[in-house]
Amino acid sequence: MITSIGSSQILQTSIVIAIAIAYICRMSTDKKVRVRFAPSPTGGLHLGGVRTVLYNYLFAKKYGGDFVVRIEDTDQTRFVPGAEEYIFECLKWCGLYPDESVVNGGEYRPYRQSERKERYKLYVEELVAEGHAYYAFDTPEQLEEMRNKNRTDENPSPQYDYKVRMQMRNSLTLSGEEVHRLIRSNTPYVIRIKMPQNETVSFTDMIRGEVSFDTSLVDDKVLLKADGMPTYHLAVVVDDHEMKISHAFRGEEWLPSAPVHVLLWKYLFGLDAMPQWAHFPLILGPSGKLSKRDGAKYGFPVFAMNWTDPKTGELTEGFKEKGFLPEAFINLLALLGWNDGTEQEIYSLSELVEKFSMDRVHSAGAKFDYEKAKWFNHEWIKKLNTGYLLPKVKVVLAAKNIEVDDDAKLSTVIDLVKDRCTLLTDFDEQAAYFFKEPKIMELHAIQPKWNETKTAFFKEWASVLFSKDFADPHQMEEQFKELAASMQLKPGEVMMPFRIMLVGGKFGPHVFDIAHLLGKGETVKRINEVLKMLEPA
Ligand code: GLU
Repeated sequence: MITSIGSSQILQTSIVIAIAIAYICRMSTDKKVRVRFAPSPTGGLHLGGVRTVLYNYLFAKKYGGDFVVRIEDTDQTRFVPGAEEYIFECLKWCGLYPDESVVNGGEYRPYRQSERKERYKLYVEELVAEGHAYYAFDTPEQLEEMRNKNRTDENPSPQYDYKVRMQMRNSLTLSGEEVHRLIRSNTPYVIRIKMPQNETVSFTDMIRGEVSFDTSLVDDKVLLKADGMPTYHLAVVVDDHEMKISHAFRGEEWLPSAPVHVLLWKYLFGLDAMPQWAHFPLILGPSGKLSKRDGAKYGFPVFAMNWTDPKTGELTEGFKEKGFLPEAFINLLALLGWNDGTEQEIYSLSELVEKFSMDRVHSAGAKFDYEKAKWFNHEWIKKLNTGYLLPKVKVVLAAKNIEVDDDAKLSTVIDLVKDRCTLLTDFDEQAAYFFKEPKIMELHAIQPKWNETKTAFFKEWASVLFSKDFADPHQMEEQFKELAASMQLKPGEVMMPFRIMLVGGKFGPHVFDIAHLLGKGETVKRINEVLKMLEPA
């Protein structure tokens, strides 16, 4: 049956959602806003992760709240050395400083879940005692057997759920005595949630409105693992409660876990205590969810900063090293899933804090466009003052073995070329020739039309430059044109060769600005060198 939804119905639904969201936001201001970013330190920080940080941060700052960073490292098998430090380096680069974290401490420490191990046990035992969870002693072989037995075309990966739990080796099927005996004899076990059958679990997502799940479709997730560590599901709920988190924001990929979390909140702390949830839209690449592979394939960064996998040594380039400014990175991420309803695109962090609102975050996936990302960077390079850019440009040049100690000259260079730089790394090509002779000389662009008159012109021009002191680039240009006219040359015929002599290629700002800044000694030297190269052998 096809149901046609009229525009008035859409309007009504939108009004209901808007009222619900306004209510949630008002509620949120009643209690202290406390949000958290809860990364698992397993590798590079994806731009989607930084956007989650950013939206958390903006919301916290807007409402005078706290931004907590909690390290979710309960899966010891996925531990990657250096990943935690790397996350904090990225946040520092972005200027998104947490109020509480493993680095700067806080009232609710420890902020690393592996150090909170003992706390989770108490809660999980409470769940078992109340019949919401149970011990499961199944061996890997028994689990495999269950999957093999139940696998069908419609159900290729059978779950441990209400349909099979009564055929398995757990505290629901074994006698109390047997359970005690197994625990006493150190038989490995996990604790699983007992998902209710045929119940509907719902909650109001600040972006998506009411979201409902059929509990029969959710498996009996493990809450406590055999090594005594909680799984993410248990730890996230316990910690959000203990750390008084008021709003829990995370990526859409966590939405399927929400029914487990809502039930744990209901059983342990009551639904009234539950934070307000929001699940941010996916960031889409050229083919579905943006992945590291897309970055490698299309040549754009996906991580905030360079990440080297300690196991494989594989380096994945970051936005920072690619030449992005943190201001631009933050700005472009803010607009990947949010806008303030106007045409404005350029925002500083403080403006974002002022303008950001959760009701303008979209629920549909946001498409990442690398060309647009570069546009943001270009705008920020033009916008930021030269003094701020100077140390960053120095780093770019130093990476190419150009050490600059004349800050005044570098400032003038930056002013001259910044309009031509999309990435900070473009300053290499656009600024290097002011400090070092060009490495590549595109002589092929002038050679075919070279003649003796041009040689004579440049010899004469070199001696004019040598003998005169030009007050400004404009005066130099006048002289250049006069000399060309006196030798029956059009200015265009000698202007491009002059540029190539100084710069090495057909690029850069006004050529007389370049010559003036290089100074007459260096300009004459470069002219003579190219004349020598052009001499017939
Ligand atoms: N530890 C989860 C992650 O790695 C956090 C999910 C959440 O914020 O609840 O993304």
